Amino acid sequence: MSTTSTDGSPVLRMESVRKTFGGSVVLRDVDLEVAPHTVTALIGASGSGKSTLLRCANLLEEIDDGAIWLDDEEITDPRADQDAVRRRIGVVFQAYNLFPHMTVLENITLAPRRVHGVGRAAAEEHARELLDRLGLGAKATEYPDRLSGGQQQRAAIVRALAVRPRLLLLDEITAALDPELVGEVLAVVRDLKDDGMTMVLATHEMGFAREVADQVCFLDGGVVLERGTAEQVFGDPQQERTRRFLHRIV
Ligand code: ADP
Ligand code: MG
Repeated sequence: MSTTSTDGSPVLRMESVRKTFGGSVVLRDVDLEVAPHTVTALIGASGSGKSTLLRCANLLEEIDDGAIWLDDEEITDPRADQDAVRRRIGVVFQAYNLFPHMTVLENITLAPRRVHGVGRAAAEEHARELLDRLGLGAKATEYPDRLSGGQQQRAAIVRALAVRPRLLLLDEITAALDPELVGEVLAVVRDLKDDGMTMVLATHEMGFAREVADQVCFLDGGVVLERGTAEQVFGDPQQERTRRFLHRIV
């Protein structure tokens, strides 16, 4: 499942990214570098721009200024093949990730078969392998509504992984879960990290971010106000606003 990098150059790079919605600036001069096989956690209050940043990285939103690279390709270049870019990025949202009218297996094999041209047998074999790894081997032929919220999110992660993405974007994937189901989903993220998957995740789970993130970015009003290792940002925040945010939330 690991992705291989040719060198240490960033998997994702954002430079001076600016995003506005109807005149209001939602991302301002955002710079970001995500090294291969690392986890970047985006933290910050609701409305600070975490989801927008992830959506820009996946080209779900068009940026107003700046540039974004995936590996060595400038994906915000108008000539870039946007569909091809999206095929290299896996995304999991807070909720409603699975199609309710398809079994888990159908959900997972849809993109590999339709978008990547993988044959049914190969797609199903890979899907079952991933389901087994994430402890969902017995759920392949169930419909999503027969799964717990935690199982649904794990299946959504499997679906994102099924296309062998270069980068995984996770937007508050535990936010809609009952507290007792959060752990099983975070455990999967931990496993993927051990496996070398490159990830950017927006999260309110500060303990988890501190444990798993190589890089932490604190967003405030669309600006990356502070960034550093988890130890730096959580252990010794330099900005008063970061301190206040962490104080409030922890
Ligand atoms: P977060 O994920 O950190 O809670 P978001 O990226 O969702 O923050 O939102 C950042 C800001 O952008 C908020 O003020 C939000 O209201 C605004 N915003 C997000 N998406 C849209 C949109 N599609 N249209 C208008 N404003 C939006
Ligand atoms: Mg959000």
